Amino acid sequence: MKYTLKAFSAALLAAAILGSCTGARHADGRVAKAWQKYDVGDILFEDKAPATEGSKIYRRIIPDPEAYIGEQARTVLATLYDSPEDNVPPVYRIRYTLEDTDGISAKGGSNGDIDIFYSTRHIESSYGRERDTARLMFETRGVLLHELTHAYQLEPQGIGTYGTNRTFWAFIEGMADAVRVANGGFRPDGRPRGGSYMDGYRTTGYFLVWLRDNKDPEFLRKFNRSALEVVPWSFDGAVKHILGGQYDIDSLWHEYQVAVGDIAE
Ligand SMILES: [Zn+2]
Repeated sequence: MKYTLKAFSAALLAAAILGSCTGARHADGRVAKAWQKYDVGDILFEDKAPATEGSKIYRRIIPDPEAYIGEQARTVLATLYDSPEDNVPPVYRIRYTLEDTDGISAKGGSNGDIDIFYSTRHIESSYGRERDTARLMFETRGVLLHELTHAYQLEPQGIGTYGTNRTFWAFIEGMADAVRVANGGFRPDGRPRGGSYMDGYRTTGYFLVWLRDNKDPEFLRKFNRSALEVVPWSFDGAVKHILGGQYDIDSLWHEYQVAVGDIAE
């Protein structure tokens, strides 16, 4: 739910993001192949703002939304899980709507019945006066990877909910942006400086991908799975579970911040 729309988000928060997760391998062709026959759920595309310019642009650059969304769903799954035999929360239906509204995009629904909206106003602003199709496609895919992660990710256990627990929230939103980072969904200058692993979104997401690149190539998938294996879930418990008891989350964050040059030492 990275990109919240006010009216939508209240209902979404109430409905809760019941999924969660992580997964950190590169979604290369070999991995993705294992998911080609996986049932990602029924994808229903609905254009609720056909008169808008954003809708017309979207329809032109993405002529087959169902196929496009299904392809991104498989990329997300390959990033979060080793194989379809893993504990993947079943998704029965993804209803994807274009809406003339503020905000960018958000995921709602639960129990495998997922709603995702994408703002035609955001489409228009991404396209811009420059009529930059490449920029819009890049943004559309990145946002979609984030929201689809919410559909398939695992969720922390024993610590409350998305709306009541900051750690739960940081896990959910950090993982969604980690999947986006891992699949080239941000521009080269997309990484925020400083902050904390508890900040969620990109700040957490880039850190999780750094852990994958520097500590364990399977880190993202293991981190997702830790939602079921570390109960009650915590960032520190998860890194100890995955990397070993000699690690702790604050020291890893410090090491990361030094490594990327955000702090001196
Ligand atoms: Zn999100």
